[in-house]
Amino acid sequence: MAKIISEDIDHVLFTEEQIEQRCKELAQEIEKDYEERHIQPLVVGLLKGSVPFMAELIKYFKHPIEIDFISVSSYQGTQSGDVRINKDLDLSSRDKNVLIVEDIVDTGRTLKEVKQLFYNKGAKDVKVVALLDKPDRRLVNIKADFLGFTIPDEFVVGYGLDYNQCYRNLPYIGVLKNEIYNQ
Ligand code: 5GP
Repeated sequence: MAKIISEDIDHVLFTEEQIEQRCKELAQEIEKDYEERHIQPLVVGLLKGSVPFMAELIKYFKHPIEIDFISVSSYQGTQSGDVRINKDLDLSSRDKNVLIVEDIVDTGRTLKEVKQLFYNKGAKDVKVVALLDKPDRRLVNIKADFLGFTIPDEFVVGYGLDYNQCYRNLPYIGVLKNEIYNQ
């Protein structure tokens, strides 16, 4: 019989309803910030983990935005902004106000490098919205400008987040049963 992925979850941290509610609030917060600065964002999702979060978030924007996606792998111990681009943007980010959409900020390395990458590409302004933040794990000094939820140092899956490319399609965020890691 095929596996049912929800059976692998030990406990739920955030339900679909809680995430939707937070996305509504975040979209309002973000729009207010951009409106006050009289600018429009180019909303860029970091593939693949940001996809469900970005899809939910942008539904609540009332003003025009552009969207695009990028997929990167970061090298360790190299210059900041020096990331390998697996899939680049379709649109130009030159002179744009880029809003990076990230699933989770952990050590902060990815975000720091991707932010620098966009400045290197000529973006005028680069801000970050992250669904989750694990501040206890931070290794570089960076934080999201807009944040969904702060979580403790636990490995989470669902709502875009994977374990071995599985569980991204769960409509909530949860913690896996210990036995899943020992299989
Ligand atoms: P950082 O560069 O901040 O250390 O890593 C960010 C990336 O690590 C995230 O985009 C995500 O792909 C992965 N990551 C960090 N923590 C978790 C977690 O708790 N669960 C999952 N599924 N991925 C995580």
